[in-house]
Amino acid sequence: MQNFQFANPTQIIFGKGQIEQLTAKIPVGSKVFILYGGGSAQKTGLLGTVKDTLKGYQVGEFGGIEPNPTYETLMKAVEIIRKENYDFLLAVGGGSVIDGTKFIAAAVPYLQGDPWEIVRDWLDVKSALPFGVVLTLPATGSEMNDGAVITRKEIQAKLPFMSKAVFPRFSILDPIYTYTLPTKQISNGVVDSFIHVMEQYLTYPAEGKVQDRFSEGLLLTLIEEGPKALQEKENYDVRANLMWVASLALNGLIGSGVPQDWATHMIGHEITVLYGLDHAQTLAIVLPSLLEVMKEEKQAKLLQYGERVWNLPKDMSVEEKATAAIERTRNFFETMGVKTRLADYGLGQDVIEPIIANLEAHGMVELGEKGLVTPAIVRSILSKSL
Ligand code: NAP
Ligand code: FE
Repeated sequence: MQNFQFANPTQIIFGKGQIEQLTAKIPVGSKVFILYGGGSAQKTGLLGTVKDTLKGYQVGEFGGIEPNPTYETLMKAVEIIRKENYDFLLAVGGGSVIDGTKFIAAAVPYLQGDPWEIVRDWLDVKSALPFGVVLTLPATGSEMNDGAVITRKEIQAKLPFMSKAVFPRFSILDPIYTYTLPTKQISNGVVDSFIHVMEQYLTYPAEGKVQDRFSEGLLLTLIEEGPKALQEKENYDVRANLMWVASLALNGLIGSGVPQDWATHMIGHEITVLYGLDHAQTLAIVLPSLLEVMKEEKQAKLLQYGERVWNLPKDMSVEEKATAAIERTRNFFETMGVKTRLADYGLGQDVIEPIIANLEAHGMVELGEKGLVTPAIVRSILSKSL
């Protein structure tokens, strides 16, 4: 196992009706700024509940944070917060609202330059406004981690940044808030969580036996509960398990002390920023082909995954087992309703070079756990994804 440091300071407040804990978690006298997305929080009544709960605080609000949150929109919130001196942020939404809130939290006190520098230069900012989360979509794990992905439309960039200063102070996870999700978002969430685990699990053996068993447990839970969530819209325990899986899949725990890949995510970000596909759709396209192309390098873990997660017979040949493990993965995404080919989204051969050019422009030329995913390898992966 590799050396590591692990700390996760986010307090999770989990379960039915736990919104009642909100005021206990926000310091008395705070001036609270609520951030939300394109309208679902209003429609479901959650925004109204949050505002009622916050009676007694000075409260402002900002809606319209879009999926794949943009610098352009987020800077409007930064200006208001600076002018009106809000000192506590509350994200009400999914990964996009939470990621956007993280950028805003870091950008408000960043006065030495353009806050885009935080993303462009991977700055590990040391200060940020404190914030909490009310989660409405289990998928990204953003509610319990210190990462965010921000898009800047004018330069077609979608880039991550990380800083310990942007861990949420608390996250309220009430599975009932996920009942209103459209089927597509449930599907996307299961696939994104699954691939978060794979990015930290399907690399090369590093004797992280605890991490492997945690990862396999999370994958098995997604395989068992994901399809049920599509059928049973209001099954509390199914939604509860998916919500907790999504947080555990990317809260630092399973990735500590083991190699990590993340090539699928970096390639996927370029597909989203160039062609507008949902985050999870891009991952479902890239991962099966990446596993195919990197089959030799990832062989040991691929076989372990095939046996332990997909229950493939031990007597299959190495080649058959690796191929079957990849096919099961692709079929799972398809069963969840997420298509796995570029053609399924109307994209063809002509998108490959622009995606590679964008990766190169962002310095992403040696991706993966060993830096082996070069532009030439990305070309093979995308060609297999057609
Ligand atoms: P999202 O973009 O936050 O939300 C997708 C859609 O779901 C929005 O249209 C939203 O509507 C709707 N929605 C959310 N909750 C709802 C509810 N309870 N009922 C009905 N509709 C609801 O989706 P996401 O998958 O959570 O986030 C994706 C973003 O996170 C991407 O930018 C991705 O790159 C990033 N990401 C971050 C991390 C990380 O660690 N930080 C990891 C992976 C991905 P409204 O806008 O109207 O609310
Ligand atoms: Fe993701």
